[in-house]
Amino acid sequence: MFSYRHGFHAGNHADVLKHMVLVQVLEHLLQKDKPFWVIDTHAGGGLYDLTSGYATKSGESASGIANLWPMRRDKSIPEAVRSLLKQVALLNDGDDLKWYPGSPQLAAQMLREGDHLRLFELHPTEIKLLESHFAGVKRGVSIQGADGFASLRGCLPPPPRRGLVHIDPPYENKDDYRRVLQTLKDAIPKFNSGTYAIWYPEVARREAIQFPAQLKRLAAELPKVDWLHATLRVKGAERDGVGLFGSGMFIINPPYTLYDKLAVALPWLVETIGQDDHAAYTLEAQQS
Ligand code: SAM
Repeated sequence: MFSYRHGFHAGNHADVLKHMVLVQVLEHLLQKDKPFWVIDTHAGGGLYDLTSGYATKSGESASGIANLWPMRRDKSIPEAVRSLLKQVALLNDGDDLKWYPGSPQLAAQMLREGDHLRLFELHPTEIKLLESHFAGVKRGVSIQGADGFASLRGCLPPPPRRGLVHIDPPYENKDDYRRVLQTLKDAIPKFNSGTYAIWYPEVARREAIQFPAQLKRLAAELPKVDWLHATLRVKGAERDGVGLFGSGMFIINPPYTLYDKLAVALPWLVETIGQDDHAAYTLEAQQS
């Protein structure tokens, strides 16, 4: 159960898609002068050193964030990519890319006083990393070593009734697909104005292939729920059921600005970090 360590994958193409979308959602929530919560049900370690440990063993960031990093000052690149690079640059001095923010760090560095970040994580080592990373932060962040799926209901609705729920499990256990769907079914009726961001992998596995259609069916069954679905595939499918060739983000109640931003960013990412002729994107949305 505890084999997954996000450090191996930090900054890869899937993180680029996921974190670019999260930054867009957060920027939108920040436009109003009203507090909000971010609930991250599967937090990971929070911040990753791309120059040591797991990240150097896998080298996955080379085809993701490290590929984009030299373009961070180029004003002609898509705005959504530039916004992600701006957040990464806040952690790195000068030209060397060392630190890459996981979703907790991204949220923490964007939130204001009065906003709140709730983090759930089950891996004992990742919990320790999170706790030491946020040790100096006295207010605004809470960390629980608990099952994020089971704990979400108890946080809803967040007191300001505004917020983002990020659901980002490892999916190494195929039961994660079912648990995401059940968690959404339980959560949305309690907080139906919230934005929900669900990441999932594109791998050659039945559960992963069926998952987007299941998410759309679930959204259709709930009253007043809009959605946006974006995928970024960087190479042809690997047939082993494990190799990640792309990923998707399914956003429930997305910001109205997100579709247009991604319509520019996704084709650019296909051109820039695509690895072969199978690189492609999809973007679709539905309003209730
Ligand atoms: N959200 C992080 C980010 O974007 O930087 C990455 C999270 S990683 C994909 C998934 C994490 O979920 C792992 O650290 C794993 O230990 C943790 N995990 C697995 N099952 C969990 C559960 N039921 N509740 C909370 N955390 C869980």
